Amino acid sequence: MKTLTEDIVEVLITEEVIQKRVAELGTEITEKYQNSKPLLVGVLKGSALFLADLVRHVALPLEIDFIAIQSYTGSRQSSGAVRITKDLDGIIEGRDVLLVEAIVDTGMTIGYLRRNLEARQPRSIRLCALLDKGARRILQVPISFRGFEIPDRFVVGYGLDFRQLYRNLPYIGVLSDEVTGLSHGR
Ligand code: IMP
Ligand code: MG
Repeated sequence: MKTLTEDIVEVLITEEVIQKRVAELGTEITEKYQNSKPLLVGVLKGSALFLADLVRHVALPLEIDFIAIQSYTGSRQSSGAVRITKDLDGIIEGRDVLLVEAIVDTGMTIGYLRRNLEARQPRSIRLCALLDKGARRILQVPISFRGFEIPDRFVVGYGLDFRQLYRNLPYIGVLSDEVTGLSHGR
């Protein structure tokens, strides 16, 4: 049987490097939210692994909630048309909210989510993104805590998928064009 890892042409960020950076982000977040009890909101499903590792490095009383979204388009190109498929369990009015995302690409998805949550009047709202594909940005979104800037390649692993697979890889890897059926140029 074909193993998952045969589809990875390059390991972009190793498990060790991810874990070290996640710990640093935890420290940055701890310093930023002194005297606060932040609510960390994980954007499902991609951020599940990142959030789980991250919170273990945040030395604060904090709460966790999740929101799940689905883009209307099935294609790779984000249209920004997003549907909330699972909303937050709790009320965020007056809270210090930290949105936790695995990757910001065009910025359309997180831009929509941010506006949606802002309307609920949190005290503050910031974004923590593990990966920033800055070259593809269409909508400018401030990233308060950023793990890594990455090149314009389609990556999987550590929560990120291609058609729901590869999320369980402990590293961030570049998926073969043969699997994605996409060329580099797009
Ligand atoms: P946006 O273009 O910033 O709206 O990104 C939308 C979503 O596309 C992200 O939240 C990811 O779920 C997904 N995405 C963007 N780039 C990649 C990638 O390289 N690998 C896997 N998923 C990606
Ligand atoms: Mg996906």
